[in-house]
Amino acid sequence: MLLLVLVLFIIVPRLSLLLAEGGHFAPQLSTTIDFLEKCNGVVMHTFIYVYVAFFGSCLASFLNVVAWRVPRGRSILGSSHCPSCDHRLSMRDNIPVWGWLKNEGRCRHCQSPIAQRYLWVEVLLGCVFLILFLAEIVFGGFNLPTSPQLYHTGIEFVLFAPNPQLIQTCAFHATLMSILFTVSTISSESFRIPASVIACATLILVSIAFFCPLVLQVSWKAIPTHPANTTLVPFGIDSAQTMLLGAVAGVIAGIIGALVHKLVPTSEKTPDRSVVRQQLIASFGLVGLALGWQSVLIVLLFWLLLALFARLIEGTRSIPASAHVMGATLLHLLSWSLIFGR
Ligand SMILES: [Zn+2]
Repeated sequence: MLLLVLVLFIIVPRLSLLLAEGGHFAPQLSTTIDFLEKCNGVVMHTFIYVYVAFFGSCLASFLNVVAWRVPRGRSILGSSHCPSCDHRLSMRDNIPVWGWLKNEGRCRHCQSPIAQRYLWVEVLLGCVFLILFLAEIVFGGFNLPTSPQLYHTGIEFVLFAPNPQLIQTCAFHATLMSILFTVSTISSESFRIPASVIACATLILVSIAFFCPLVLQVSWKAIPTHPANTTLVPFGIDSAQTMLLGAVAGVIAGIIGALVHKLVPTSEKTPDRSVVRQQLIASFGLVGLALGWQSVLIVLLFWLLLALFARLIEGTRSIPASAHVMGATLLHLLSWSLIFGR
């Protein structure tokens, strides 16, 4: 690994610089240097993408622990243990995705199986982080209704001329997706979303909007499909109104969602209706808080489509209703500029 870093990032750039300055090399060596320089770019891109996805998976691994312990009234501090034999898990067992694959989905000590769900949710949040990173940073926020400039795109700009506004916006949306992920994970075990989780999520979202102004994309006054109104919302009265109105719209959407959920016949393993309603109100409310009332309407529409789609497909019926809110929010984030125009 060290040798690879040495060759690709120190020796090759040095040689290609000499080549550019008119240094004399055998023609074969020049071709090799050119080729290695291309490899250099590929390695750098791959490394950054894997790193971002890995970061998402690590967070998923931690949020899984939060989602398991908080509804059971346990502390989120302390190391993880095997649920069967209570053996403390080592660092290497805790590496997301890799740990599961290496132990072939079993505890290393008692050989009891570990649910495949853990592997898939880690892969899922890793992919969500990578998709947001690509859309909102590498491709210059093409999905955002108020993207700053489109010419600053590509991974090189991320490294050498990063755009703080895009990075903050991406981090804000990644945080929202992580919160929805936690809510979905808690919902998958038919628990109510604890008040502490909702309060903590609200505090995190409001703090980001306070410390990183310009993460709120659309003011509460803006009307969908009316591009003239889309300006960024600096922190102040306007952004407070945007967040508050969004949260109220989200709560209403959650109630509508719960009513729709009631109408559709479900499988035998149906959780309590009031629990589903509380989960949906929490999810939609947090979406509204972060994205505004206009987004709530669109996320509700996507949610209906996803929920309907899941009803039609046998294997996806056990996915909790609030997990569809997460999917709907991602779809909305990626198509946001289509709805608001630029
Ligand atoms: Zn065990």
